[in-house]
Amino acid sequence: AASVVFDHVTKVYGKDVVAVNDVSLTIAPGKLVTLLGPSGCGKTTTLRMIAGLEMATKGRILIGDKDVTTLPATDRDVSMVFQSYALFPHMTVLENVSYGLKFSGFSKAETLERANAGLSLVGLDGYGGRLPSELSGGQQQRVAVARALVLEPQVLLFDEPLSNLDAKLRRHVREEIREIQQNLGLTVVYVTHDQEEALAVSDEIVVMKNAAIAQIGRPRELYDAPADTFVADFIGEANLVECQIVAVEGDMAEIEVGGIRHRLPSRGLRPGKAMLALRPSRIRVTEDEGLAAAVEKVTYVGPRMEYTFAGDFGQLFAVSDDVDAPLKVGDAIRIGLAASGPVLVPDA
Ligand code: ADP
Ligand code: MG
Repeated sequence: AASVVFDHVTKVYGKDVVAVNDVSLTIAPGKLVTLLGPSGCGKTTTLRMIAGLEMATKGRILIGDKDVTTLPATDRDVSMVFQSYALFPHMTVLENVSYGLKFSGFSKAETLERANAGLSLVGLDGYGGRLPSELSGGQQQRVAVARALVLEPQVLLFDEPLSNLDAKLRRHVREEIREIQQNLGLTVVYVTHDQEEALAVSDEIVVMKNAAIAQIGRPRELYDAPADTFVADFIGEANLVECQIVAVEGDMAEIEVGGIRHRLPSRGLRPGKAMLALRPSRIRVTEDEGLAAAVEKVTYVGPRMEYTFAGDFGQLFAVSDDVDAPLKVGDAIRIGLAASGPVLVPDA
C-alpha cells in the first residue's frame, strides 16, 4: 500500500469551472480516508485525478514516492470501484473478476486462483459461474470490489459505492469494505456525501466545500471540534448559537451568551461575534448557573426524548436518554454550559 499526496492541486474544467481549488493533502499508507461533502464540491474530480482519469490543471500528485501527475491511468497501479458497479453484463462473475488480471501477465491457473481468492474475500465463494443479472445489488457491488482487489493496487478508490443499495445493505457492505481494508492494510480513498457512512468507516475524513478542504481530521475530532459552522452542521447535528467573545487570555476566551458569561478554549478566535456549536446529545440541564430557557417542545421517539428549548439565545434542539422522567412543555430550566460541551467556531 502506498501514500497519496496532493501538492497544491487545482482542476479547472473548460475555461472556468474550478472543480478542485489548490488542494494539498497527505493520505498515509494503509489508511481509509474519506472525501466527504455535498454534491458538486469536487469529490469525484479529486478521486479521478488520483486514478488518472482526469489530469490536474496545476500542482503535483504523488503515489508513494512516484510523481504520477502526468502518468496515464494504466500506469498508476490504482483501481476504482464505481457507484454503478460497472460490471460487464455478458460475462460471468468469475470472468468479470479475472478481467483485469488478463493484462497483468498471470498464467491461466494463477488468474483463476486469484479471482477465486478475490471472490472468497468478499464472501462470494461459489458465485463465479453466475451472470451479474443473477445477483442482488449488494452482491454485484461485492463483485466490483473483488475485481478491484485482485489487482492488488497500491491505492483503491471508491466513488459512492453504496449509493445504489438499500439502507440495511449499505451498512453491511460498508462494514465489509472496512474489514477487508483493515485486514489487507490497503490504502483506500473513499468518496461519500453521507456523513454517517464517513464517520463509521474512516481513519480520517477530509471535509470538502466549494472545491476546497474545509477540515481534515479523525471522525471524533471533526465531531467534537468542528472548525467552522459548515463542518459543525454537516457532521452530525449541531445547534449554532450566536455569542460574543468579550476577552481572550492565552488559549481561553470569555464569552457572553444569553446574559451569562462562560470561559472556554478560544481556538484562535479574537474578541467579537462568534458562534457556539452545541451537540444535541450533550446538552445538560442544570440546577446551578446556566442559560435560562423554557421547554418548548417534547417528543418521545422510542429510546430517547427530543426537546426544543427556547431562551434569549434562540432555540436549542436536544436529545436525552432519560425517558422515565422527561421534562414537560413550559418547564423553566437552566442549561449548564460547561456540562453541555460547547465549542467556539467563527461567525460564518
Ligand atoms: P462531487 O463528486 O463532489 O459531486 P464533482 O467532482 O463531480 O463533485 O464536480 C465538481 C464540479 O465540477 C461541479 O461543479 C461539476 O459540475 C463540475 N464537473 C465535474 N465533471 C465535469 C466535467 N467533466 N466537465 C465540466 N464540469 C465538470
Ligand atoms: Mg461525485
